[in-house]
Amino acid sequence: MEIRVITASPLSEQEKRKIEKVFADKHKGESVSFRYESDSSVIGGLLIIDGDDFYDATLRRQLGNLKSHDEPASEIIKRKCKEKGVSEFDAIHELLAEKVQGYKNERDRIKAGRVYYSGDGVIRIHGLNDVRYDELLDADGVKAIALNLEENEVGAIVLDDEDKVKAGTIVRATGNIVEVPVGEQLLGRVISPLGEPMDGLGALSASGTRPIEAPAPAIPDRGKVNSPLQTGIMAIDAMIPIGKGQRELIIGDRQTGKTSIALDTIINQKGKNVYCVYVAIGQKASTVSAFVHTLNEYDAMKYTVVVCSTARDSSPMQYIAPYAGCAIAEEFMYSGKDVLIVYDDLSKHAVAYRAMSLLLKRPPGREAYPGDIFYLHSRLLERAAKLSDQLGGGSMTALPIVETLAGDISAYVPTNIISITDGQIYLESELFNAGVRPALNVGLSVSRVGSSAQIKGMKKVSGKLRLDLSQYRELIVFTQFGSELDPVTQRMLDQGARATEMLKQDLNAPLDVEHQIILLYITMKEMLLKVPVNKISSFKKQFTDYLDANGGKFIEAIRSTGDLTMEAQIELEEFVEKFLELYNR
Ligand code: ATP
Ligand code: MG
Repeated sequence: MEIRVITASPLSEQEKRKIEKVFADKHKGESVSFRYESDSSVIGGLLIIDGDDFYDATLRRQLGNLKSHDEPASEIIKRKCKEKGVSEFDAIHELLAEKVQGYKNERDRIKAGRVYYSGDGVIRIHGLNDVRYDELLDADGVKAIALNLEENEVGAIVLDDEDKVKAGTIVRATGNIVEVPVGEQLLGRVISPLGEPMDGLGALSASGTRPIEAPAPAIPDRGKVNSPLQTGIMAIDAMIPIGKGQRELIIGDRQTGKTSIALDTIINQKGKNVYCVYVAIGQKASTVSAFVHTLNEYDAMKYTVVVCSTARDSSPMQYIAPYAGCAIAEEFMYSGKDVLIVYDDLSKHAVAYRAMSLLLKRPPGREAYPGDIFYLHSRLLERAAKLSDQLGGGSMTALPIVETLAGDISAYVPTNIISITDGQIYLESELFNAGVRPALNVGLSVSRVGSSAQIKGMKKVSGKLRLDLSQYRELIVFTQFGSELDPVTQRMLDQGARATEMLKQDLNAPLDVEHQIILLYITMKEMLLKVPVNKISSFKKQFTDYLDANGGKFIEAIRSTGDLTMEAQIELEEFVEKFLELYNR
């Protein structure tokens, strides 16, 4: 049996041996002979004819395959050589370049499809190939995001004007993902999740953009959470301290003061060199407007960006809002700043995502949420971090808010988010209605990393407070039976009632950490037992005024050392005794 080997130029002996070995193995036991031929029309490579088997690894075939030509590739090359007077190699090179270009154009051409279903902010597209998950699509000028990649269709969500998208609208893939404007020019502005101004203050002049989805900082890029983010709310700063770079959930039923805590925290960042981003998700426009109004009143918009998607915005807009806010905060964080970001609230975000997923025909799971509801929030909250010093040491502290129904923190979305965050501030309707505001449930609230960020003075005074309050809450249940109390229990009750009273705080009245430490010190030392419970709030006010007028040195001492030294404690106690004498007179 004879095997023909055809090449453009003759093969070396070594190459021949290699081929012969392969075919000798194939035809074991048979006698085979080889005939080597040269034929320039194969251009390059190798054509082997083995009886009825045809092994065509020639450049001629590959060039011919790239795009159909009427003329065989070898003829084109010959013609090019003659016409342009170039070498055969250059002619092949040129032909290859043309083919590759043609191939690319062909791919571009098929990166478009047609809408065959449109409704409730969701479109389904036929004929669109080669798109990525999360890619930005252009449906005749309207922005959409590809979320479902299936064999025969692509499901996408429409971001702006969904009425413009009809069946038959041509959709093109852009190769990019959605970006938002970022930078310091955004401070003081209220914008939509796509970065359009919503405050009537004219066009935005942002310095750059950032994709709304980005990977979270890796482990080596992170530093330790070790400096406090003061909320100005005594109950929180003392018992559930938050560190810069931490994620602390604010959770509670409707109308329990969740938004107010976030608002006060933003107001308290004044002059502390912290930028704030507030993301409103599915809130009433009036609520957001009142929020911005209060920020303006306290001069806090100067360092704040508000990203707003209201309840009347489509679910896709509500869905991207927190990611857009996060990208804006990330820009600040990576430029070395400390940022506070509030997501108000993630329950509405989950509901918007559920609506979208069901319209995209994804299978529903528990509570009809799609299977990736955990990932929805974990990838968002993981982006909050304290960066290492090599990366500039910036931080992003996240305060997500979640609304519960009838105090049920074991529902699907709340448990998910509790497991992602570093602790939660649990607000209770019962306490709120009883006038304990902020309505903090001390037993169910925790901060898993913040205490390492507390200053020394605060650590000293806050430890016992938590215990006092928990004991008080337990005892108060028993006293409802009206039984006789021994003096020790009575003292615990008196002390707990005063501590609770001391931790009540008005709206928009943040306290700095020095005042907090002094007030808590007095409480902890049980000095308030001389003041009737119903007078505590007036005592607090008058004492604060007296302290500001006469006790500047205590404030100064704590500010410079971060601690309340032994000597300062003794002096402070004398100072308080003196005031109590005046007060009780
Ligand atoms: P929603 O569920 O509607 O979002 P929310 O839990 O965010 O409500 P807020 O809007 O913060 O609650 O507060 C509800 C009401 O309680 C507001 O009118 C607010 O002024 C009042 N409030 C909140 N905190 C305090 C406080 N510490 N002292 C007095 N009033 C407060
Ligand atoms: Mg609210």
